[in-house]
Amino acid sequence: VRGPAAEVVADRRDLHAHPETAWTEFRTTARVVQRLRALGYRVRYGREVVREQARMGVPEAAALEAAWERAAAEGADPALLEAMRGGFTGCVGELEGAAGPGPTVALRFDIDALPVTEADAAAGHRPAREGFASRHPGAMHACGHDGHTAMGLGVAAALAAARARMAGRVRLVFQPAEEGTRGAAAMVAAGVLEGVQDLLCVHLGAQSHVSGEVLPGVTGFLATTKLDAEFLGKEAHAGLAPEEGRSALVAAAFAAVGLHALPRHSEGNSRVNVGVLRAGSGRNVVAGQAQLLFELRGETTAVVDYLERQAAAVVAGAAAMYGVEHRLRRAGAAPSASSDPALMALVARVAEATPGVRRVGEPCRAGASDDAATMMAAVQAAGGRATYVIIGSELPSGHHTPRFDIDEAVLPIGVGVLAGTALELLGAHP
Ligand SMILES: [Zn+2]
Ligand SMILES: [Zn+2]
Repeated sequence: VRGPAAEVVADRRDLHAHPETAWTEFRTTARVVQRLRALGYRVRYGREVVREQARMGVPEAAALEAAWERAAAEGADPALLEAMRGGFTGCVGELEGAAGPGPTVALRFDIDALPVTEADAAAGHRPAREGFASRHPGAMHACGHDGHTAMGLGVAAALAAARARMAGRVRLVFQPAEEGTRGAAAMVAAGVLEGVQDLLCVHLGAQSHVSGEVLPGVTGFLATTKLDAEFLGKEAHAGLAPEEGRSALVAAAFAAVGLHALPRHSEGNSRVNVGVLRAGSGRNVVAGQAQLLFELRGETTAVVDYLERQAAAVVAGAAAMYGVEHRLRRAGAAPSASSDPALMALVARVAEATPGVRRVGEPCRAGASDDAATMMAAVQAAGGRATYVIIGSELPSGHHTPRFDIDEAVLPIGVGVLAGTALELLGAHP
């Protein structure tokens, strides 16, 4: 089988076999840059599209370097890699239409994988059975971003082929570090969305597990903030001199309970979760250090800002109770956002006419958070419009699990709906 649909599937499988987690998408970015260039796009990457200080949740230098060297060993272009060294992944490609002036339409695709160990063939997992399972131990495309990136390349090709009819320009944003809502803010801060009238974002499967179904938008992304707290106490012999110790573990434990008991805000629903508590070194040692990783979510950005202030007080208070030092660091954040009705209507109209689409559903409640909301809110705040399109997909297992897989038959549907909508916005009716 040849043709655009086969190419999107081949790209997805190549990316699936080489998953790269947040801020280490070196090989992935290099491949996207080369493909966009070959299609005639002007491509920016490295520090030009990622502002250093606005990055959140960046891995340790050693982990970044190991991933960078792995990408080099896998044959990624050295010149491209050099610009990304230290975790400056992601890229932006722009193509000017040849039919005169018009709007700037942006499409955003997230490219990162997750720290999940992929299931094997014995578990009946298709990528393993068919030879394209992860070759990177401990990393897996378990959220479908391999499919998103592949669809982005498919859209790039479709728009390049229609360039003569396009009035205005398209900007394709390949975003790193979506997981943990860590990457979008750094791209926004670097100005990648400046001048954008319409922004299209996409996810496979999430709120629709029906292949052939398309949901034109999402309402009520939850705002979220991810925080890392560190407690630094003082080790001591638990029998001989406990009074000389300061237990970071006990402080962190009280903080965990206090965080789950945060007073809520009347303006909207919220969620709190302490997901990780690591502390101590031995049974008979007063614990000298502890880490606590937690997240806050809320219906509005104001609710989460309120929770974040309360959380800071709880962490500081628990540290003070036991006389330990503490540090609190933001590891990720995204605002609330909703799709624009007029843009959703256009997506729905295009989807109705897209081959393979069997049903166009209603906009859905998000019930979760996504880094795309950072970009949607940025475009909307500047007077533009944005939506987040769900391309339905049957799933053998849920997102973020070791047996996750997508129905590859829906990839061309995503390409058709997104490219078709962009072309409508650029006056180049498909
Ligand atoms: Zn995910
Ligand atoms: Zn995702």
